[in-house]
Amino acid sequence: MSSVQSLLAVILVQHLVFGALWLGAAHLKLARRPAAHWAATAFIIVPATTLLMLRGAVPTGLSVGLGNLLLLLAMLALRRGVQRFCRVPATDGEHALLLGLGLCSVVGVVWGGPVLLMALLALGSAMAWTLLRAAGEVRSGLADEFGPEAATWCTVPLVLLACLILLRLAVGVLVPGRLSNYLGEPGGGGGLPVFGALVCALLLQVNLLLLVTLRLVRKLQHQSDHDMLTGLLSRRPMAERLEAELQRQQRQGGSFALLSIDIDHFKQINDAHGHAAGDAVLRRVAQALQATARRVDSVARMGGEEFAVLLPGADRDSAERAALRMLQAARRLEHPEIARGRGVSVSIGLAVASARGESVQSLQRRLDEALYRAKAAGRDGLQHAEEPGAAMGLQAAAA
Ligand code: GH3
Ligand code: MG
Ligand code: MG
Repeated sequence: MSSVQSLLAVILVQHLVFGALWLGAAHLKLARRPAAHWAATAFIIVPATTLLMLRGAVPTGLSVGLGNLLLLLAMLALRRGVQRFCRVPATDGEHALLLGLGLCSVVGVVWGGPVLLMALLALGSAMAWTLLRAAGEVRSGLADEFGPEAATWCTVPLVLLACLILLRLAVGVLVPGRLSNYLGEPGGGGGLPVFGALVCALLLQVNLLLLVTLRLVRKLQHQSDHDMLTGLLSRRPMAERLEAELQRQQRQGGSFALLSIDIDHFKQINDAHGHAAGDAVLRRVAQALQATARRVDSVARMGGEEFAVLLPGADRDSAERAALRMLQAARRLEHPEIARGRGVSVSIGLAVASARGESVQSLQRRLDEALYRAKAAGRDGLQHAEEPGAAMGLQAAAA
């Protein structure tokens, strides 16, 4: 076995392995549709590589014509998978045209003579075009999710492979005297382009695997940081943000505010209209709070029908305005699941952190006490927390 044939055998095994991996991924519902397309890509490359190995031993129409057509088909499957993964519209019409061009080119290869060159150029250009278009889709489709720089890096294997195909075509087909090697020797003659194809294909597959893994990790991260029912932040990341804001305030001075918001008589809604109606009310109130908050604020569901809003940099007045807006937003909501005209209200406790040296626990105690007073004062209202000094003074007096 020549070195070129050994390299081709490695490519063949490589694609059998990646094909099996993508099939497994599709079976496990990890990026199911893209993975199925990429499994097809790998499995189509296997017979295409076999035909490349057989160049010179079987008729040109088969080894060059059908071999290149299969490679084009593999690139189209690859691009379709990319489109699914990047959630960009499929371009099936364009793919049908390219496939038609590929079929005509196979006829051209069988025909031979001057048509042969044109047919080979058409096949190679169709492959490079498909890869470059896929690269464009990766760049635009993943820029928001992974950042523009990472998205650009992800296009590198696709662009490299397209350049390699064009270069191979230019050297093998257009350089005088090389055509007979290209048509009659395994891999088209010369180990370098085959080695280049091996490296590019490996880079491409690893890149795709990384993208799928990264998306999965991000999804899990998002799920662990957010509440399933309302989509708001959950308790733990809120506690982390609160701690970070407190540290910032202790270092740089200034103030921030924390709101504790609790839906009034929520148990009655559940009891009278069912748990599903209660869930719908929870989701709607959560959406209203999120919509009323500023971009820099953090809104979390702390559990049950309790929410917290962190207002970085807010002082007493601006926090009060924000809390009143939230009170009104909750009041204005309509809930078709519960009796017409019967609204839902919330009670709010508001604490401003402006003193140096206050702990999270002390802030939380003041806030709980303010919410308790808001409930005791008849609900559907706002109460400010005691100043930390006053709370400490009360504790001292009690002792
Ligand atoms: P108050 O005005 O004093 O806050 O009274 P409340 O009825 O709102 O408060 P209570 O703590 O007595 O009841 C809270 C209820 O919230 C009890 C619990 O069944 C319900 N609950 C907690 N989590 C969920 C949830 O995810 N979905 C639904 N539908 N109900 C929930
Ligand atoms: Mg309640
Ligand atoms: Mg409660």
